[in-house]
Amino acid sequence: MPHDDDQDVYLPNENEPIHQNTSITRGQLFALTVAFMTRHSLTTAAIADLILLLNTILPSCLPENIYFFNKVLHSGYCTDTYVYCDVCEVFLGKFDGETKNAVCSACEKNVFFADMVKKGCFFIVYPLEKSLRTMLEDNDLGQCLIDTAACSSTSAAVMADITDGDEYQRKNILPFPNSISLSCNIDGVPVFKSSNTSMWPIFYVVNNLPFSLRRENLILHGLWCGPGKPKMECFLKPVVNELIDLHDSKLVWRTKAGVEMETTVHCDLFVCDSVARPALQNIKQFNGKFGCGFCMHEGVLVSKGQGTVRTYPSGNHLPELRTHEQTVELACQAESTHVAVSGVKGISLLYLLPDFDIITGFNPECMHSVMLGVVRQFASLWMDSQYSGCAFSIRAKSTMINSLLVSIKPPSEVKRLPRSLESRCYWKASEWRAFLLLYSVVILKGVLPDRYYNHWILLVYSVYSMHQKLVDRTCLLTCDLALNKFVAEIPHLYGAEFVSYNVHLLVHLVESVKNWGPLWATSAFVFEDANRILMRLLHGTRTVSKQVFQNFHTVHYLKPMAKAYFANKCDQKVAKLFNKLSHLRVPCTKAVRFEDGVVGVGHRIISILSVGELLAVEAYIGTSLPSIVVTRFSRIIVNGMVMHTVNYSAKFKRNDSLVSLHNHSGVFALHSVVQLPATMQLVCFFQRYRVHQVVVHSAEINVNLCKHVWHAHQTENLVACSPTDIGHKCIGLNSKSSFYCMKLPFFELD
Ligand SMILES: [Zn+2]
Ligand SMILES: [Zn+2]
Repeated sequence: MPHDDDQDVYLPNENEPIHQNTSITRGQLFALTVAFMTRHSLTTAAIADLILLLNTILPSCLPENIYFFNKVLHSGYCTDTYVYCDVCEVFLGKFDGETKNAVCSACEKNVFFADMVKKGCFFIVYPLEKSLRTMLEDNDLGQCLIDTAACSSTSAAVMADITDGDEYQRKNILPFPNSISLSCNIDGVPVFKSSNTSMWPIFYVVNNLPFSLRRENLILHGLWCGPGKPKMECFLKPVVNELIDLHDSKLVWRTKAGVEMETTVHCDLFVCDSVARPALQNIKQFNGKFGCGFCMHEGVLVSKGQGTVRTYPSGNHLPELRTHEQTVELACQAESTHVAVSGVKGISLLYLLPDFDIITGFNPECMHSVMLGVVRQFASLWMDSQYSGCAFSIRAKSTMINSLLVSIKPPSEVKRLPRSLESRCYWKASEWRAFLLLYSVVILKGVLPDRYYNHWILLVYSVYSMHQKLVDRTCLLTCDLALNKFVAEIPHLYGAEFVSYNVHLLVHLVESVKNWGPLWATSAFVFEDANRILMRLLHGTRTVSKQVFQNFHTVHYLKPMAKAYFANKCDQKVAKLFNKLSHLRVPCTKAVRFEDGVVGVGHRIISILSVGELLAVEAYIGTSLPSIVVTRFSRIIVNGMVMHTVNYSAKFKRNDSLVSLHNHSGVFALHSVVQLPATMQLVCFFQRYRVHQVVVHSAEINVNLCKHVWHAHQTENLVACSPTDIGHKCIGLNSKSSFYCMKLPFFELD
């Protein structure tokens, strides 16, 4: 099918009902169909048949055929294919004609581009400029960014986001709309289990967007798929060229009001794992000599099992940190001698990026190095049978640990319910994160021998502190002390062979937070869903193609469609079906909106206030009520935070009732929510828990490492207050006869 034009195509009569006896609009049916086909990864033939089927039942309810259907869906969406030499992987150019050919600069053979495409020697790029313009113009984010830029002023003592980092500040990047800052993620994802095929997408997030909007506005720039990994100087060529162009010539776009804007695009940070990072820096990987991309640690070979591993033990002081200038110099030496110098193998294409630092432009990336690295490594030391004779082994207590774990009822901010450690080989990064930050302090208390427990808490304390919404700069000093102590003590607690590269990266963690802000702002978690969607799409077609790229775009298109077609009045059943198929939430009509962004959800019950409630509410409002008949809600949403009453939570495997309150000490459980008679005023009743801090002190570090964990005791106190008094959501954990609570750290929510 020829793609002759690049024009936007819209769905005609999108707000008209598809039939006179229904309220479903053409737009809604279109969105439902798209959600259905992405949910089930339908083949092209299946989609064509589905469209035909629906159009036969109800003529013209959808675009005539798959060609016109796709025209609406992918209007203006056209990717570029770049080919490389099948022998030497040298970049050849853009495939834009069946007869195009070029001479490979390495092997000097004449190559026909069409042959390379047939052989799979190509990758796909969608112009970043188009993605950015769509985001700013069509999705209304330009205005949102202007608003965010206007109100971003935090105190210098805390770090609220990536823009507060020293490196960001050093670069003197002008605020939006003068400039826009991107973080880039490039990682290899294995695709087919039985082969060594992997997929390498290039994603960006826009750092200027509020954190909650970053994930749903990811940009996919390039996609390579094949055996092994791509040659970076080939794959990155068109990518780096476009980034330079968008920096130097600026992105030109128009506001809703039609004002032309010019925005300089910066690519500031690469968020990668320890395989992609050295490939991009062109530095040796961690198993080679001088394999740390951040410092000049040589590494030490230590025997482990049958072979040897490279470890990175801490000396008396940290090895010299690498710098951009020094790395460029070493790279030039390496290029002329063809031998790596201090781990630097050669120059990198990224040197060409404007104002980009090849060392500080990367971070240790905590999802891979901490959650999937260090935390998983220690769990296997404690639980694996091969260590069952060691002092740190808790394998004998695994039944008790597992039953504690699975009995935890986390709040809905934690996506997955806890699973037993037996199935830890299937745990996702987010499950390791929950184990580290939320569960392990309580689960391991009195289980892991004291000196091992106190050692572990050094890690928990540091990572928890750097996962706060606002990270306190003075606290970073303590985190650095704690992390260095954690690393230094491993040889005599566990053995020298366990100071792995992931463990070593912990000594660079605080530096990266100073440079780029809180850990949540710069981890790869934000890219995880997108990688999973791509994997699913690839599994469907078994080969990377323009179609995979397009389908990815389709999945991302669902959200704006939901906004466009379901925002106004919509049949409850239709909205429910769309929610189910798309995993998106469209507004429920059962919700009641109150002041200050508070929403009451679900069934309402009319009943009378109890004596305790009446006393509490009259103390709160300072007058007596005209009537004690009230409307009760068991679920509310406060600024996007879901809250359930204790009774409602009791029915489910999640507990969304625990919070801290502004101007009150302790932890509170939501007892009930009532709408006062003849008003639109909501009052929450909370049961108070008295709390005291769990204490874990460590020599040399003058702070209670467990001050965020509270031992809690329920009281009879009923406190009435406004929903807007709710501070942090908390998690509660039962262990033996004690109850513990802590505030949730900050990480991305659904
Ligand atoms: Zn060649
Ligand atoms: Zn290092």
